[in-house]
Amino acid sequence: MFKSNTDNILIIENVTKSFNGNLVVNDLNLEIKTGEFMCLLGPSGCGKTTALRLIAGLEEADEGYIYIGGELVTSGSKIKKHTQFRDIGIVFQDLSLFPHLTVIENVSFGLKNSLNRSEALERTEFLLKSVEMLSDKDKYPHMLSGGEQQRVALARALAPKPKIMLMDEPFSSLDNRLRDEIRDLTLNVLKDEKSSVIMVTHDPEEAMKVSDSIGVMREGRIYQKGAPYNVYNKPVDNESAKFLSNSNVILGSVLNSQTNTPFGLFMTPGVDDGLNVEIIIRPQHLKIDFDRNGKGPSPTAERGIAASGQVYRARFLGKESLKEIKM
Ligand code: ATP
Repeated sequence: MFKSNTDNILIIENVTKSFNGNLVVNDLNLEIKTGEFMCLLGPSGCGKTTALRLIAGLEEADEGYIYIGGELVTSGSKIKKHTQFRDIGIVFQDLSLFPHLTVIENVSFGLKNSLNRSEALERTEFLLKSVEMLSDKDKYPHMLSGGEQQRVALARALAPKPKIMLMDEPFSSLDNRLRDEIRDLTLNVLKDEKSSVIMVTHDPEEAMKVSDSIGVMREGRIYQKGAPYNVYNKPVDNESAKFLSNSNVILGSVLNSQTNTPFGLFMTPGVDDGLNVEIIIRPQHLKIDFDRNGKGPSPTAERGIAASGQVYRARFLGKESLKEIKM
């Protein structure tokens, strides 16, 4: 079965999956446009990897439909197209390069049936050059570092020009500095290849760095999907807001569309009187002035949103500081 008139490379409709009675993917719905780089972002155990495995056809669903390139590949518990025929590239945590094949043999492995020898060699060498591994083409996987193996795995997954790349925490095993370097290189290669990508991560900063869109996942569901800017600045609920970054949470109660807090009045239109609310402020939107010469609160106080307090614990964390203040 085909879905025509769609420019979505992937469509997931009402997909559900349980393991031993535990609902892990709960009525999942998702659409990815051709060329979109989407991150599935959520806490550990929320079902991200299972969702990716369902898309890859490595798991059977209990219910729902998955379409890749408009074609129905999963229909409820029926796998309509097996993994090897789904036209997908997979880069999972365990890189699983073939240990007995060299770098060049690993990358060209999936091209045997689609290209002739010289075309396959040309494509393989092109990709190895892109991931800066051409000079290591005759090495075996055990002779490579983690970052080098990662780049070969990327080239191997990209070689057959898959419709969609599925990547599960691909950089998590790399140390911080190497992670940034390999991530930038990976992004450049994926962009050059005009790939559609779903990448799983539990790191909000990583998701915002790499993706066109983020799907915020919790308890097997996507609660919000949108551009990083929107997901960060207009989260659908407070759990999503808090997952995206550290937050300052101010409690208050609504009266006449306003909430009175120790920081002053906040406008809270559309919220019923008497409801208790949490006002969530990102760290960078909170300004701390030190009243060293006893002049009193800063000019912000004139707008009614300011409070005085005493720092009782302060920690320097490099690019930011953590200050705990008693009011
Ligand atoms: P992480 O970020 O830690 O990798 P995740 O969001 O990717 O987590 P999943 O790996 O999809 O989460 O797992 C979701 C839940 O499903 C977990 O509780 C896990 O133990 C369970 N689970 C996953 N695969 C199986 C399986 N084959 N059999 C039984 N339970 C499973």
